[in-house]
Amino acid sequence: MKVASLMYHQHPTVALVDPEQALFWPIASVDSRVPDEAACDMVKFIEWSCGRAIAPPISIGIGISEAFLCAPIAKTPHNILCVGKNYDAHAREFSRSGFDGSGAPVPEKPIIFTKPFSSINGPMSEVLVPVELSQSLDYEAELAVVIGKKGRFLRAEEAADHVWGYTVVNDITARDLQSAHKQWYLGKGIDGFCPMGPWIVTSDEFDFVNALVISRVNGEQRQSASVRDLIFDIPSLIATISRSMTLLPGDVIATGTPAGVGIGFTPPKFLRDGDEVECEVTGIGAIRNRVRFVSGWRASDQTHKITTSKGS
Ligand code: MG
Repeated sequence: MKVASLMYHQHPTVALVDPEQALFWPIASVDSRVPDEAACDMVKFIEWSCGRAIAPPISIGIGISEAFLCAPIAKTPHNILCVGKNYDAHAREFSRSGFDGSGAPVPEKPIIFTKPFSSINGPMSEVLVPVELSQSLDYEAELAVVIGKKGRFLRAEEAADHVWGYTVVNDITARDLQSAHKQWYLGKGIDGFCPMGPWIVTSDEFDFVNALVISRVNGEQRQSASVRDLIFDIPSLIATISRSMTLLPGDVIATGTPAGVGIGFTPPKFLRDGDEVECEVTGIGAIRNRVRFVSGWRASDQTHKITTSKGS
């Protein structure tokens, strides 16, 4: 199933969605067993639904344009867990760019960093960029894993049991800050710099083997790679991260971006005011975010703005 977080009649609503028909069904109308708190909060719904089968909706759906589409998870239990340099061709383009201070071009162990939940942004929302902050704004389309079941010291063979579903993120990055501060938190953790969505596809429905990660800027394709090209696959990422911390329902792991980011071009193709970035994972869907360069004062209004986009 595809599960979205919507604002519908001013209420946060967890809903099943059918993108082909552009319809949704509030989860409470689909399954009467869903507790009230899980009908309006994706993380609570994930906790409740783990191990439960949900029957397909039988009622008439509601047009998706009637609702505001939000990031599927507004606040992850941990920071958003991210993986650096996890596609070989991207690792090499990043190394060549001069912005990489993280060592060998292709890592021997997964590079794990995080973005704060305050960077989460809606799947169709504007990304407001403080004009004083960065002159080298870049995009990174990524497949993200959503954890369903709590776990620590997980073996790779156990990882699949802990995955609830998959979504799409754009790991937007201020390359100048990423380079200047060495650690990546300030360059990647800016408010609104993690558009997510448009929904979560549950793991039983996702064709992982054939999925492609794609990005387009103003309609021009920049990235396209198979998820099979990941250097460190999802089971090994889950095993690695869960050695250090207990993974919790609703945690999100962004698995890394393929080649074709702005700094991979000569000269670099940084994002400019008004550009629209589309990030897609086939079998899930696409998020589309327009970039706006504004004064820092105006950008500060964007703290955790997840409910600003209408429809899909
Ligand atoms: Mg990334």
